Amino acid sequence: MTPLLNVDSALANILSDVKRLRPESVSLIDALDRVIADDIASPINLPPFDNSAMDGYAICHEDSSGANPDNPVALSVVMDIPAGSAPQTALTPGNAARIMTGAPTPPGATAVIAVEDTDDNWNRGEQSAPPARVSILKRAQRGENIRQAGENIAQGETIMPAGTLIRPAELGMLAAIGCAQVSVIRKPKVVILSSGDELVDVYQPLEPGKIRDTNSYTLAGLIRDAGGLPLRLPIAQDSLDSIRTLYRRALEIDPDLIISTAGVSVGAADLVRVVMSELGDIDFWRINMRPGKPLAFGKMQGVPFFGLPGNPVSTMVTFEVLVRPALAKIAGRDFKCRTVKATIDGDMRSDGRRSYNRVTLSRANGGIIATSTGIQSSGALMSMVLADGLAIIPEGVTRLPSGSEVTVLLLRALD
Ligand code: AMP
Ligand code: MG
Repeated sequence: MTPLLNVDSALANILSDVKRLRPESVSLIDALDRVIADDIASPINLPPFDNSAMDGYAICHEDSSGANPDNPVALSVVMDIPAGSAPQTALTPGNAARIMTGAPTPPGATAVIAVEDTDDNWNRGEQSAPPARVSILKRAQRGENIRQAGENIAQGETIMPAGTLIRPAELGMLAAIGCAQVSVIRKPKVVILSSGDELVDVYQPLEPGKIRDTNSYTLAGLIRDAGGLPLRLPIAQDSLDSIRTLYRRALEIDPDLIISTAGVSVGAADLVRVVMSELGDIDFWRINMRPGKPLAFGKMQGVPFFGLPGNPVSTMVTFEVLVRPALAKIAGRDFKCRTVKATIDGDMRSDGRRSYNRVTLSRANGGIIATSTGIQSSGALMSMVLADGLAIIPEGVTRLPSGSEVTVLLLRALD
């Protein structure tokens, strides 16, 4: 028996073997959920010009010293600046410019007084001419209600590093800086393979001795969630021919990653292993983790390949621990393992391998409590349905008493 490989070494091996995909250019509207390929710097200041934060009057702030409701200061209204205009003439003391939110403040203006702090009560819907004079009812500080050019983003500043996932906020920011085409990483095409005489697809009747293929559905979800494009092939039978045909079909698709489940455990029909070795350069590892000891990793005609264990929980846990970081690297996505510290409620046991126990999480007394979802069998997918996270029991530890602190890998956001 080969010795057990520790989880961190397995992950390091995998990460050194997979590469980021090439960038492609997409138009901004198609860039949601894509990953930025190169650091993006802003070619302009944002805002691009000094502008008003209020509907009101641009003034020289010194003119307002001493202004209050009992002592209004009257100024001549010499300009009207609607949004979209570009005032050229300078504002001089004693004068005011009517100005709309977002419109450029004129040279010489040092503050904007909100319309509510004047004697004007313009009807916002109407484009009426400004009054000849306006009374200021409040003292303004220098710079008040003026948004300075470049105060959000300075020209040349990096606003998004490579690896950033584009969400609606990033879309807006890219629009603001005039980025109509974005260089993003191609989405990885990931083929999912299942084999087993016992497996039937979800729409087929459940004959005696059969179970439904669940792994290709969990994997499709996990892959999509990790930024990949899942492609599910039909289930192969437990025969060399059937398995070979399936794996060949997978390679014809020209995928970026292949993930198969089952057929890598010691008792499993060796057929899958035979085909994997025939078509590729695959290592079979026994990893010091629970669930998920048997695992295959390597390349098939240059395509990275995972052979995950067949038990539904093992498939999902090995994906979280080993495939998700690899897929993130392939997809060029900045990846951080989301973990929290929690206190366990109830003893936890392990066989000394690094264990990933399914837990629910709740907040209490400023901390987080992790409670086992109950049955931890690697075939019991319900434990994953219930789980908020995977509590990690370190290698070498066989019992963690209730009240111990553990690290929990988050499977969903904590409420
Ligand atoms: P094997 O590695 O083929 O011995 O499979 C290990 C266990 O996982 C067996 O109980 C299989 O029935 C189960 N299994 C394998 N593939 C799947 C699948 N796609 N969906 C659900 N269970 C599976
Ligand atoms: Mg099998």
